[in-house]
Amino acid sequence: MDGTQILTLGLGLEAPWILKDQHLDTSVSPHRLDLYVEAERGSLYPCPECGKACPAHDFADKTWRHLNFFQHHCYLHARVPRTKCPVHGVKRIEVPWARPGSDFTLLFEQAAMSLVKEMPVLAVSRQLEISDKRLWRIVHHYVGRMLGAGFEQRGHRRRRRNRLSARPALRDGIPRHAAQAGAGDLRRPRPRQRHHQGL
Ligand SMILES: [Zn+2]
Repeated sequence: MDGTQILTLGLGLEAPWILKDQHLDTSVSPHRLDLYVEAERGSLYPCPECGKACPAHDFADKTWRHLNFFQHHCYLHARVPRTKCPVHGVKRIEVPWARPGSDFTLLFEQAAMSLVKEMPVLAVSRQLEISDKRLWRIVHHYVGRMLGAGFEQRGHRRRRRNRLSARPALRDGIPRHAAQAGAGDLRRPRPRQRHHQGL
């Protein structure tokens, strides 16, 4: 297994993405490893809206900070295409190693968030050698997402409570208004209805 294969495996790259080139620069401090990722020529990419495999319309060069390679800073570079979907038009694709709009790979962000749980943000930013402002941006994203999920869960619990609190409105498993209206066929709910009403 050569160096490129090891790095490809380490990055978890899958088709159509391949590691095209790598360069370790020891003339700068800290030393940096640059990895250049490309998709094979003529590749099709999933439209971000519908997932249909589409040809590339054009490309933009993007760079992400990745986890350190030993003590060296590591950067991932790729030409990220925009797809041309017959339905949704021209859209920038999402790469599997980073979330849209971030300058860091998902693995870098994951490592940063693990450290933030244990240490102050400023200390983590010094350890990772990024500005605390950039680290705060990552923290805000993930905390916002967690809070969003929390609100969604609370909303689900509230909807469930509302369903439960609606139970007194049932008489013999039949909605009171329907029973009062003498809707006879509702008096014997089918099994699926009975299950639903039993919530
Ligand atoms: Zn589409």
